[in-house]
Amino acid sequence: MTKTNDGLMARRQAAVAQGVGQIHPIFTERAENATVWDVEGREYIDFAGGIAVLNTGHLHPKVKAAVAEQLNAFSHTCFMVLGYESYIAVCEKLNHLVPGDFAKKTALFTSGSEAVENAVKVARAYTKRAGVIAFTSGYHGRTMAALALTGKVAPYSKGMGLMSANVFRAEFPCEMHGVSEDDAIESIERIFKNDAEPSDIAAIILEPVQGEGGFYAATPSFMKRLRELCDNHGIVLIADEVQTGAGRTGTFFAMEQMGVAADITTFAKSIAGGFPLSGITGKAEVMDAITAGGLGGTYGGSPLACAAALAVIEVFEEEQLLARANDVGNKLKSALTDMQAKYPQIADVRGLGAMIAIELMEDGQPAPQYSAKILAEARSRGLILLSCGTYGNVIRVLVPLTAPDAQIEAGLAIMDGTFQAVFTS
Ligand code: PLP
Repeated sequence: MTKTNDGLMARRQAAVAQGVGQIHPIFTERAENATVWDVEGREYIDFAGGIAVLNTGHLHPKVKAAVAEQLNAFSHTCFMVLGYESYIAVCEKLNHLVPGDFAKKTALFTSGSEAVENAVKVARAYTKRAGVIAFTSGYHGRTMAALALTGKVAPYSKGMGLMSANVFRAEFPCEMHGVSEDDAIESIERIFKNDAEPSDIAAIILEPVQGEGGFYAATPSFMKRLRELCDNHGIVLIADEVQTGAGRTGTFFAMEQMGVAADITTFAKSIAGGFPLSGITGKAEVMDAITAGGLGGTYGGSPLACAAALAVIEVFEEEQLLARANDVGNKLKSALTDMQAKYPQIADVRGLGAMIAIELMEDGQPAPQYSAKILAEARSRGLILLSCGTYGNVIRVLVPLTAPDAQIEAGLAIMDGTFQAVFTS
């Protein structure tokens, strides 16, 4: 049922006028697991998951209870001023969960971008070098250093002035767009030949599955070659698992499926089930390179977010959400592959675990012209979807892993109806 709300459009326009940027057509009233209700009384299935933040769903009862309990004790002290157990407990958990058979240390922050910034700072302190190699269509955030590492995924850096001269751009392997693993490795060798000595490079940073760039997964063989290259030249390998981490890909971190370990791993998003928490976990000897006080921040590892993260980690175990991620991924892949057979514009169905996307092409070219139409049509049918990709032609699914099968199937049926309407209109 739709409530009449005459002031709503005016309020949205006023919000834009007040400078809060792009306003989504849905204004949220409340949300639970994979369902969102808007202020007009409409109900939606959430296949966007707050951009990979809601692997355990909106307001998981355990997360809600843990945060409420923490709120009854204290909300903030700043960990650098007064310590608290939950910060340490989260670090211990992450030291255990992040892949790598070596002693580790963890530091906590607030956003994914901050995690990336701090990973680079640690790598620089450890190597005493400044350069960083990042990849085409890699996305690492929107603060200044993270933005410099972000590739041409969207015009995020437009109008922001010159980006850091210490960032060097390598090709990410993507067979679909004609870049082989050999091409990608050669692009790094070209950097060493033309732009910077390996001894100038502190770190290579990449997402094991590119998120904003279009859900392209690195292969274990490529990761192994990067690991060797880093080992040969004393370069720190940073896995940016902000989007892939916290169980989305069927293992707690995607690197577990890559056969090698990174020196530093970033995490954020779903780690705290909707509360702002991020961090880096790295080899103890690498992490120890930075001076005390070189890491941190007023809200880093907020007690509320730490309580949420501990609950999220428990929920993963209790509800066996890693296995669930693989089940959800298989369900999505199979249904979307059936749709691919019906709609020639769906050129690819891909992803790892439950991080699944389709890529739209027409006449051999990326077809971003359909993306906004698909999102709007799906929305009008009660489904929230997201697009991404360097060409804007990728539609991705990041449904909560806790969503019941029937709801995932209902969402997929809406996708099918949406494609039918958009591609045949
Ligand atoms: N790194 C990756 C891989 C991401 O996907 C994102 C966000 O989408 C970020 C970093 C930045 O995280 P945040 O938006 O929390 O700053």
